[in-house]
Amino acid sequence: MTDPVTRCGYVAIVGRPNVGKSTLLNYLLGQKLSITSRKPQTTRHQVMGILTESDTQIIFVDTPGIHKEQGKALNRYMNRAASSALADVDLVLFVVDRTRWTPEDDLVMRALEGVNAPVALVVNKIDMLDDKAALLPYSEARMVDDTFDAFLPISALRNDNLETLRQYLRNHMPVGPYFFPEDQITDRSSRFLAAELIREKIVRQLGDELPYTTAVEIESFEQDGHILHIGALIYVERSGQKAILIGEKGSRLRSIGTDARKDMEQAFETKVMLKLWVKVKSGWSDDDRALHSLGFEER
Ligand code: GDP
Ligand code: MG
Repeated sequence: MTDPVTRCGYVAIVGRPNVGKSTLLNYLLGQKLSITSRKPQTTRHQVMGILTESDTQIIFVDTPGIHKEQGKALNRYMNRAASSALADVDLVLFVVDRTRWTPEDDLVMRALEGVNAPVALVVNKIDMLDDKAALLPYSEARMVDDTFDAFLPISALRNDNLETLRQYLRNHMPVGPYFFPEDQITDRSSRFLAAELIREKIVRQLGDELPYTTAVEIESFEQDGHILHIGALIYVERSGQKAILIGEKGSRLRSIGTDARKDMEQAFETKVMLKLWVKVKSGWSDDDRALHSLGFEER
């Protein structure tokens, strides 16, 4: 018997806000790994999801720039697109919403022009269509000039045609060894996700009040029976910020904790006990060693 052949590659999911990218990624990964927020730049890291199954590892890269709603940011994204996130991916999923094509979709499409990898047009929300035949003119118009490698109508929400999409993804991953351990999704990325969920709630609840200098460190992450115990430290730079974060009689911190815990319970499919502490760590963002211990080192 020969060793099984493995495949491994990078897939970028792009598209204007609200077309269903996160919904799709969450479905593919089977947990809530991608962070959604109405405020841009909630995540410092490029959010990555890794799916390993059927001798294939698919590494999903997010393109945060494209989630910004302003033209300027989108333009900047376009300029950088070819040289950054999209430069060395093996496949691009360009997600659009069947019910609405906007100028922003055109911008994204233009950003894809210089991309070498095959681009699949993923037409989402087909559950909103009464008549499936309405898809045909769409596909003809958009496929006619061979811009796209494939045309995949799906419903991320209703799980329609997603097996076809999975199969398509698998077939397009190059033969090669895995870049990440098979169980990557269960350890570092879970802690990472926990920290990101807390950061997300802080930005959502206090975005305008707190400067962009908050960091979250997961201190403990332990499953005990059916309860996952998570302890996290939130670092701020000044005691005034600490007071804001804690709120009157701890109300703000409690509310952040409750929101984060709910998302964690959904993501990890278990009951979660979340403990949050706030610490003042002056000038942490300038301290390389501090950055390292907080997980911001380049990988
Ligand atoms: P993103 O901004 O591209 O990441 O989009 P989201 O995944 O956050 O989805 C935006 C909205 O579209 C959410 O309210 C989703 O529930 C909804 N949505 C996503 N996929 C579908 C779908 O297949 N059908 C329908 N009807 N709604 C969807
Ligand atoms: Mg999203």
